[in-house]
Amino acid sequence: MTNKRNVERKRNKDIDQKNKKRPSNKKRTVRKVRKKRKKRKFLIRRILVIVIFLFVVYSIFSGVKFLIELIPTKKIIVIDAGHGGSDPGFPSKYSKSIVEKEINLNIAKKLKENLEKKYKVHMVRTQDIKIDNYNRAKKANELKADIFISIHANSFEDPTVEGIEIFYDLEDEKVLEYGNQKQKDSKFLADFVLNSMVEESGANKRGVKKNHRIIVTRETDMPAILIETGFMSNGNEFAKLNTDLYQQKLVDGIEKGLENYFISIKDRETKTK
Ligand SMILES: [Zn+2]
Repeated sequence: MTNKRNVERKRNKDIDQKNKKRPSNKKRTVRKVRKKRKKRKFLIRRILVIVIFLFVVYSIFSGVKFLIELIPTKKIIVIDAGHGGSDPGFPSKYSKSIVEKEINLNIAKKLKENLEKKYKVHMVRTQDIKIDNYNRAKKANELKADIFISIHANSFEDPTVEGIEIFYDLEDEKVLEYGNQKQKDSKFLADFVLNSMVEESGANKRGVKKNHRIIVTRETDMPAILIETGFMSNGNEFAKLNTDLYQQKLVDGIEKGLENYFISIKDRETKTK
């Protein structure tokens, strides 16, 4: 009898111990749920860390980009002194020794001096050499210039005609409204430059004119103008065109016009942003 009881007790003990070792089903599912929660928390934390990291990287990147945009980069201006070498341009009936190419180069050099303080300036020619007009435009395109300015002097059979006129590229049959952006900007620039040149020099204002036959203004990719600074065929204007004082007034006018143009372009860009 005692033996039987002992055996039963032992069995009960064993069952108890087994039950202790193996947690109940309920306990197991609780543990599983806790484990899952832990895993989920870990995953959420990881995602949060990644999101914060990406946000910080993006903030730094856009901050740097903003700062870079604040640093003013110098605009590239290409100055083209018309004619040169075996191509003298217009002659003068008032002086055998002075021809158009020299006047153009003198004015162009003064313009370079004025603009160099603010812009990156490149001269198509600094000497008395002949350069093909297509190559002049090509040079400006290669330099990715922002503005192209060609300097010339005019001549006409009627000696009373005088004043400044500026050409930009536009097809004869087109009105500006249907021109491309370069053509529109060229006209925009020409207006500013003519106004300030006339203001500075007191010269006659002959106007801004479209012309599709001028190679340098047609073949350039950027806003481009050709300035006829005055008439060599007019005695009074020819004399003025050969003085440093008058040439300086002309280039001061060009510089002011350019400045006004860039200010207007900037205003336009901020308005459209
Ligand atoms: Zn010319």
